[in-house]
Amino acid sequence: MTKPLLEVRNLSKHFHSKSGLFKKSVHVTKAVDDISFQVMPGETLGLVGESGCGKTTTGRMLLRLIQPTAGQMLFNDGSKDLDLGQLHGDGLRRFRRHIQMIFQDPYSSLNPRMRVNELIAEPLQALEPELSRKEVEDRVRWIAEATNLKPEHLSRYPHAFSGGQRQRICIARALVVRPRLVVCDEPVSALDVSVRAQIINLLKDLQQEFGLTYIFIAHDLAVVENISTRVAVMYAGRIVELAETEKLYTRPAHPYTEALLQAIPTPDPFDRRDLAAIKGEIAEASNLPPGCSFHPRCEYCIERCTIEVPPLREIKDSQYAACHRAEEVVTGTAEPTAAVEV
Ligand code: SF4
Repeated sequence: MTKPLLEVRNLSKHFHSKSGLFKKSVHVTKAVDDISFQVMPGETLGLVGESGCGKTTTGRMLLRLIQPTAGQMLFNDGSKDLDLGQLHGDGLRRFRRHIQMIFQDPYSSLNPRMRVNELIAEPLQALEPELSRKEVEDRVRWIAEATNLKPEHLSRYPHAFSGGQRQRICIARALVVRPRLVVCDEPVSALDVSVRAQIINLLKDLQQEFGLTYIFIAHDLAVVENISTRVAVMYAGRIVELAETEKLYTRPAHPYTEALLQAIPTPDPFDRRDLAAIKGEIAEASNLPPGCSFHPRCEYCIERCTIEVPPLREIKDSQYAACHRAEEVVTGTAEPTAAVEV
């Protein structure tokens, strides 16, 4: 049986802040709260949810840009499982080439004073300092070609490029160290619609060519459907549904997933589905409602939902959902309840 490339167990990130007279009240913000998932080699796991749901914090913990409060992140480096949370110093530096990140904004993530060849070489020089100058140049040319950058682009500065081309440079920077796992944090949301498909197709081609594994973070479910093998839906710091892409998009088991899918805009100007999108605001991580965090917005809410936190459990055929009424939702038999507090 194939081992997961990454196994996340009970991962949490809680932020503590003090307020009030003499700063005596302590508020806990549960940005990510007890999430577990696996990522198999060669797959793309989509991580979706509204802004503030914890998906970016999760990605940043995997790269150790943020230290988790609790939990484990086990990365299989080919011979053993490394607990990423326990790496420090040289061990952490050596590990960094295995996981790289593509950031959302290709405008702010490139130093405007560096030429493209210097930008692409920078992570290589930091993470593989033993390479000779010639080896670095060869590797930069190799990844530039793989990401469809022309040789003449390498001597230019970032301002000479469009958003799509800049994102190719960011992808080249991430892949030049030959990582095994790439965390793509909203990589197309800052781009024109016309170039989004090009970048998604490039990411898919590179995945095939280099056997890459992706965690693809996005709020746009249409984009995630296009690239993901499986999808995890996050709400208020927790995973509320996890399933293969086709199952999740054709028969969602969680009311939040169902509502997100209904909110995907269509090309039809008379289709007003997006206006029927989810009621209310996302629950505040510093002030979560009791029971199911989604209950103030859920049209299927029953009394039990306001008291008891639903665990993430298998509903059917590796489809997991954290909902007391998931069986009814997935079969389309759940009847909306009368009052929904928003
Ligand atoms: Fe809605 Fe209850 Fe399911 Fe939460 S547990 S999503 S409130 S039906």
